[in-house]
Amino acid sequence: MNAEIIAVGSELLLGQIVNTNAKFLSQQLADLGINVYYHTVVGDNPQRLKTAIEAAESRADLLVFTGGLGPTKDDLTKETIARHVGAELELDMDALYSIEEYFKRTNRPMTENNKKQALILAGSKVLPNEHGMAPGMLYQGEQCKYMLLPGPPKEMEPMFLKYGHAALKANNVEEVIILSRVLRFFGIGEAMLETVIEDILDKQDNPTIAPLAGDSEVTLRLTAKHANAQTALSMLAESEKEILSRVGEYFYGYDDTSLFIELSKKLAEKNLTIAAAESLTGGLFQKEFTSIPGAGSLLKGGVVCYTNEVKANVLKVKETTIQNEGVVSSQCAAELAENTALIMNADIGISFTGVAGPDELEGHPVGTVYIGIYQRGQKASVEKLNLGGSRAAIRTRSVLYGCYFLLK
Ligand code: ATP
Ligand code: MG
Repeated sequence: MNAEIIAVGSELLLGQIVNTNAKFLSQQLADLGINVYYHTVVGDNPQRLKTAIEAAESRADLLVFTGGLGPTKDDLTKETIARHVGAELELDMDALYSIEEYFKRTNRPMTENNKKQALILAGSKVLPNEHGMAPGMLYQGEQCKYMLLPGPPKEMEPMFLKYGHAALKANNVEEVIILSRVLRFFGIGEAMLETVIEDILDKQDNPTIAPLAGDSEVTLRLTAKHANAQTALSMLAESEKEILSRVGEYFYGYDDTSLFIELSKKLAEKNLTIAAAESLTGGLFQKEFTSIPGAGSLLKGGVVCYTNEVKANVLKVKETTIQNEGVVSSQCAAELAENTALIMNADIGISFTGVAGPDELEGHPVGTVYIGIYQRGQKASVEKLNLGGSRAAIRTRSVLYGCYFLLK
């Protein structure tokens, strides 16, 4: 089965609201194994709505409408569809009753036009509205199914989850299990990732593999369909194995995780604490780390060592290092990482020093970054990066790289 989502509302075309209903419904339909090939947005105009319906009928089996089920004159989705498919509109007594109850409960007078909301396409299955008045419905036409849902997300979403989903499931004859998993990568760009697995992407079919580039990471969504859940699961595992054999070094986690979540999990598992020395990043690492619920106790503390004075006096970076190597140096990063761990009595120390711009520093170009990592009893190691982008991007990415290095 394939579907088209038709959002009705001139306010969408005017840019006054964002079509979040299409996003929500696309995700829900994908979970049901229903392919969504088109999103349409059309204004509150019966002629243009009719044109949109005809186009959708020529290419989809299920038309899902949102908006225009309300009481006012511009709400005409139901009327237009009824005329188009040749269905009568009939008063649904249950819907009328709950509208009347709604007015009684809220102590407001009910105007005549509100009754219009209780009209349904004759023969359709009613989807009750527990958060508003206009009910939704699923109507079986000759060729297509028509699902009508209200516009306000706070009515539409719970209605779909409680009633729409089940109504479609009962109607969707192909019984397939759909499983998906997201693989998250850091430190490799989208173009490079796609190049390295190009042949895998070219031959993909089931599971499908969908790359998506985020702010500073890339994800691959694998989706497998099969009648048998166990088989779908092993199809996913096999595809994942093939991908990770090529780009496993950049992989850091599944689904809704983040680098900081993974880091806090790893530290908790190994019972390790951490401390930070942040020059370049001014506390950003600690801010991000402490935003993870439960991670706070793993961070012993840290120092925002923005000035040379604090690097020398508080974090005991050697005078000779500052004089000879400079603060943007591997040696300085190593001392910062080690000394912050020792001072804070942490198992791990991490440091960030570098040039976020706009001006260069000690002759180093903007984007030069040193990240030091010290582990109790070992010699500190340092990674050097040359990052591009704005000051904010350099700082944000430095912190993410720090996290990534700690995970490796
Ligand atoms: P109502 O009974 O509130 O009039 P309705 O079903 O007639 O509901 P519309 O009048 O089209 O729906 O839209 C009502 C409100 O719902 C809009 O002002 C907007 O806030 C929200 N809305 C409508 N369509 C969408 C959409 N596609 N995505 C997100 N929000 C929407
Ligand atoms: Mg309306």
